[in-house]
Amino acid sequence: PKYVYDFTEGNKDLRDLLGGKGANLAEMTNLGLPVPPGFTITAEACRRYLEDGGLPDGLQDEVDAHLAALETGMGKRLGAADDPLLVSVRSGAKYSMPGMMETVLNIGLNDESVQGLAKQAGDERFAWDSFRRLIQMFGKTVLDIDGELFENAIDEAKRSKGVDSDLDLEAADFQRLVDTYKGIVREHTGSDFPSDPRTQMRLAVEAVFSSWDAPRAIIYRRQERIPADLGTAVNIVAMVFGNLGMESGTGVAFTRDPGTGQRGVYGDYLQNAQGEDVVAGIRNTVPLQDLEGIDSESYRELLEIMKTLENHYRDLCDIEFTIERGKLWMLQTRVGKRTAAAAFRIATQLVDQGLIDLDEAVSRVTGDQLAQLMFPRFDVGADLKRIAKGMNASPGAAVGKAVFSSERAKELADQGEAVILVRRETTPDDLVGMIAAQGVLTSRGGKTSHAAVVARGMGKTCVCGAEELEVDGQERRFTGPGGVVVEEGDVLSIDGSTGEVYLGEVPVMASPVVEYFEGTGERGDELVEAVHRIMTHADGRRRLAVRANADNPEDAARARRFGAQGIGLCRTEHMFLGDRRQLVEDLILAGRGEERRAALDALEPLQKSDFVGLLAAMDGLPVTIRLIDPPLHEFLPDLTALSVKVALAGADASPRDRRLLEAVKRLHEENPMLGLRGVRLGLVIPGLFAMQVRAIAEAAAERTAAGGSPRAEIMIPLVSAVQELEGVRDEAERILAEAGVEAEIGTMIEVPRAALTAGQIAEAAAFFSFGTNDLTQMTWGFSRDDVEAAFFSRYLDLGIFGVSPFESIDRSGVGRLMSIAVAEGRATRPGIKLGICGEHGGDPDSVHFCHEIGLDYVSCSPFRVPVARLEAGRAAL
Ligand code: ADP
Ligand code: MG
Ligand code: MG
Repeated sequence: PKYVYDFTEGNKDLRDLLGGKGANLAEMTNLGLPVPPGFTITAEACRRYLEDGGLPDGLQDEVDAHLAALETGMGKRLGAADDPLLVSVRSGAKYSMPGMMETVLNIGLNDESVQGLAKQAGDERFAWDSFRRLIQMFGKTVLDIDGELFENAIDEAKRSKGVDSDLDLEAADFQRLVDTYKGIVREHTGSDFPSDPRTQMRLAVEAVFSSWDAPRAIIYRRQERIPADLGTAVNIVAMVFGNLGMESGTGVAFTRDPGTGQRGVYGDYLQNAQGEDVVAGIRNTVPLQDLEGIDSESYRELLEIMKTLENHYRDLCDIEFTIERGKLWMLQTRVGKRTAAAAFRIATQLVDQGLIDLDEAVSRVTGDQLAQLMFPRFDVGADLKRIAKGMNASPGAAVGKAVFSSERAKELADQGEAVILVRRETTPDDLVGMIAAQGVLTSRGGKTSHAAVVARGMGKTCVCGAEELEVDGQERRFTGPGGVVVEEGDVLSIDGSTGEVYLGEVPVMASPVVEYFEGTGERGDELVEAVHRIMTHADGRRRLAVRANADNPEDAARARRFGAQGIGLCRTEHMFLGDRRQLVEDLILAGRGEERRAALDALEPLQKSDFVGLLAAMDGLPVTIRLIDPPLHEFLPDLTALSVKVALAGADASPRDRRLLEAVKRLHEENPMLGLRGVRLGLVIPGLFAMQVRAIAEAAAERTAAGGSPRAEIMIPLVSAVQELEGVRDEAERILAEAGVEAEIGTMIEVPRAALTAGQIAEAAAFFSFGTNDLTQMTWGFSRDDVEAAFFSRYLDLGIFGVSPFESIDRSGVGRLMSIAVAEGRATRPGIKLGICGEHGGDPDSVHFCHEIGLDYVSCSPFRVPVARLEAGRAAL
């Protein structure tokens, strides 16, 4: 294969091969922009290198040929004593991995060529500064020497000279530093700094290749879900110098504000500086606008180039540039990262500029970004006392008193206090505390740590890995930067969307985007307008309908405002809680005949009025009502608590308590999730399902009489065999016919056997709804309530899955079962309606999967409805 591409040979679409940096350097070169010449060694060469432990055959020859061409073009030879060509060796993978892979500048300098460089430039200081930078970067990244040793040496040089800024160091000082640096290299590697330019270059290339497997690169990739086997490309670029005096400098820029999307001039510039100096903060940079006063010609050229790049990439770009004695050079560009709000604004601005169409705009924003815009936010206009920044593990804005143990969190929460659970890291034992708290803050661990995984699963605000904080659980306090001490009870505010931690109570504001969906907000805000336009277009594009999971009229009404086209799952058992528990107990305690009938009769009117409310809120739209699903003992008191109560009361124990205790014991199951629930209950307790169906029928009849258009659908849970369904369906149809009401009867597909026998089940079902929570649980054999806290973070670390299968559909396992059920269900009953009602219905990846396998709708929690609408639109593009 061809391992090396000149910048004139590549283009922006070759990112797989050339990495993002190389592909974009080639693109800019071909646009005629001022890019220093150079070439790219492919990621394929890196993969070979990592597999074989050596440079692949033929690579050296190709590199030599390209270097020779570069030398000819530049009229200089690499590291030549009289007039040296210098190059940078820069890593650049397909996905940008900030700070992970390393770069070495000024390759080609040694004791001789440093003299030649000084003479040619007429600047000794510059030459020695460049040389010491080479040894410093090479020492750190290629030779693995602790970078602080070099930094300390510079500090020492400044101190002994009595100056603060590196600008006050002179040629002789840098020359001395070169000697010191060489000493550090000798001491830490046992060999001299390599003076041969070609050796320098080869070692740097190999170091970039190897850095792909450095521990922090591996951790970063895992967090960002970047595949581990891509490898990185390496760019060899002729050096241009921003450290050649005050007419030179280096900077970074954005074509628009990545925070808001606003057009304008955004960036930083630093005179007489090289490469990383801008971001390393060695001196204060100036805002990019100031370049106009420093070098107006370069400034104007830069703005012109930025416009060219935006028009060419049709998106926000970020840029690295250097000015060498008044001549502008472009060193990097890429489509820049941005906040969620900026993503929506920029997408619609580009539509207005005629650069992209609305399809493209929809594809450029994500459901996750929309979800971020829907969380309540801290009022950043408030007076903020920021004390730390960790990782934005689970979004939201949480305020509460700091507590340092889960017991304490629970205690205070039970008293009605809002608390933030602060831990070094959490363990499965902290689950109670996490549930009780408004938010979770940890000082250790990344986005796949226990705290992060569990918090995201619960939708709880979480900031993790705030490493500046020293958490002392024993003493119930933490210390932060600048000696801040926070004790138990002190109020904290944490922002799970940004990772910021504030002292005190920061006021929370409702999201303007939610107000827009609710219809209560004011239009006119640019962000809201952008969301409106993109959502409208996505709605026009999508094939999937979006329904909501809702059990009460309020949720149903909100879901409808958010754009839901019906209810995909009403969990009737949620209607049995609260003061109705008593009635359910009566039912369970009842004997067979009259007593049971009376208990059911007492429940029926309550169920009916629930359904009337729901059908009214969703008038004209389908409402899928699932008959009771969970095991009955969930409605009974706890076994231990009740045993103790009865034992303590002794002979005085009430007959009811005694009977209850008996029932609890009788209904006790080792594995309730796999026990007597769903359709099994309906078959074992005659009259239970019938009562629910009657309530639905009567509710529908009442709504019709009132002039409404009820569209109830009856859904039977936990079916594994068509025979289970048939009996229940026949009885339901009889009841509906008696009431003169029409309603479709269908089933959930949530047991693997149901998916595998879907062809038979479809004989008796007008619709399928995939219950992917149970289907995932039963397919993996994972107890959902236990495994996430117990070992999922370990599984994520081990790469067994990249994301919890309860969050995003496991396509190859659970997804395969779904595909089988879709195909076989449709074969039996071509018009069968297919939907999904598990948590996955609101997960972006899962929505795309549902689109791909041809479902008719997804159903999710009301709050996720807009996210599902957007993703369904994106899936259809
Ligand atoms: P990163 O990926 O960390 O941004 P880069 O490869 O872009 O690393 O290089 C680090 C810094 O060095 C950047 O500021 C870049 O502009 C600068 N740089 C890289 N190559 C050259 C070069 N040939 N001449 C001048 N500066 C360079
Ligand atoms: Mg860069
Ligand atoms: Mg289920």
